[in-house]
Amino acid sequence: MDDMKMGSMEMDDGELDDVHRASELKKKQVMAGMAAIKRRKPVRQHDGYCINCGKESPGAYCDLDCKEDAERFDRAEERNGCKA
Ligand SMILES: [Zn+2]
Repeated sequence: MDDMKMGSMEMDDGELDDVHRASELKKKQVMAGMAAIKRRKPVRQHDGYCINCGKESPGAYCDLDCKEDAERFDRAEERNGCKA
């Protein structure tokens, strides 16, 4: 009985090791992906403030002007994309 218990414990350790290795690999992949995104373009994330002017806003932009401004900027950036 004791031998079987020991055996199953060893197997558990092996599984844990695999999970640990997999999570390390995933962490590296996520970090590499984030670095690639950062190189390409700043990440625009809505956090309660207007993306364009920084004013408090319930949406991504506080008003239509800011939305249009940001979209115009995006289009200009795309046109000049190959510059860098
Ligand atoms: Zn705004």
